[in-house]
Amino acid sequence: MSQPPRAFRPETQLVHAGTLRSSFGETSEALFLTQGFVYPDAETCAARFEGSDPGFIYSRFSNPTVQMFESRMALLEGAEAARATATGMAAITMAIMGLVKAGDHIVAASRLFGSCRYVCEEWAPRYGVASTLVEGSDLASWKAAIRPETKVLFLESPTNPTLDVYDIAEIAKLAKAAGALLVVDNVFATPLLQKPLALGADVVVYSATKHIDGQGRCLGGVILCSEQLMKDAYATPLRQTGPAISPFNAWVLLKGLETLAVRVERQCVTAQHMADRLAGDPRLSGVLYPGRADHPQAAIARRQMAAGGTLIAFDVPGGRDAAFRFMNALKLIRISNNLGDAKSLITHPATTTHQRFTPEARAEMGIGEGLVRLSIGLEHLEDLWEDVVSALSGG
Ligand SMILES: *Cc1c(COP(=O)(O)O)cnc(C)c1O
Repeated sequence: MSQPPRAFRPETQLVHAGTLRSSFGETSEALFLTQGFVYPDAETCAARFEGSDPGFIYSRFSNPTVQMFESRMALLEGAEAARATATGMAAITMAIMGLVKAGDHIVAASRLFGSCRYVCEEWAPRYGVASTLVEGSDLASWKAAIRPETKVLFLESPTNPTLDVYDIAEIAKLAKAAGALLVVDNVFATPLLQKPLALGADVVVYSATKHIDGQGRCLGGVILCSEQLMKDAYATPLRQTGPAISPFNAWVLLKGLETLAVRVERQCVTAQHMADRLAGDPRLSGVLYPGRADHPQAAIARRQMAAGGTLIAFDVPGGRDAAFRFMNALKLIRISNNLGDAKSLITHPATTTHQRFTPEARAEMGIGEGLVRLSIGLEHLEDLWEDVVSALSGG
């Protein structure tokens, strides 16, 4: 059960961290596809339930394969504790709901992944937890929304799909001053490009479905925070309400982590070139990419992100019809609402991820009818560019 020390660099942690070898000495991490565990005697069983024996009990609570994935994520993120969940939304819902009770208040950026906004705007209020949505780039509006009963500040950065970048360090200071905790959905930045805990956030959440799998196979989520907060806020609700990940999916994600750095590094380089070329094309407008100097929050992006990321958003002039024509004319880039995949994927947020909002709410979130979101995969830059050029000229 040798574990590499924290001092190893991320690329090394991604391959080795958290590995628990069985007595067979396997090279690749073992898949413990088991619901439960047997005990040598009733006394040991009682000791496990009582907590004095640290062994495994039941895969809703913990599992060796899931634990390997959690340990690798914790070491990569620089967090004391990590817990995996069945989906990204299970992680985000627990990360927020585990910190509040009736009478408390949440402040969240209004520009959020659709389901995250649902949790803040509709789900939490059903249990007596009020929420206020603010313009995330405006520190004064965060400050104005905070009340004595505010317990959670929540944001994602860069945002889905408009790639706004929020000042995590400054928003963390506001949370601290108010006695609230800052939860950051770090999906778009990946664990490699941005470290919210080091910037002052209290909890980081991922949809592991995205870059961490990165090959379109399974869903998963992770909550990362201090050991104390995990114990106080999340451990019991996770155990008792059951959003547990399948050991099989945890194994897929564990193997996905081994290649995360090489994939994300290549995807960022290709995305930067694509963004620069798209911005230079007179047929397009409003190219948004956090790695470009013309991004509205370029200075913050430079400060808190190691690269611009793997996603680009841009406007196809001519609204929904023009955007659909462009997407339908693409031959290599596939239409899909997923992201962070080895395959480049394009989506039309107004009719998919953000369909349930009114046109006014979408406009306020910066999601126009011509906006498309492009997730850059592992294909060759020139093949992707030729596909875009051909689609822009009608296919
Ligand atoms: C996909 C996504 C989620 C939800 O993750 P699932 O694994 O699909 O549940 C949450 N936040 C962001 C930013 C996402 O892109």
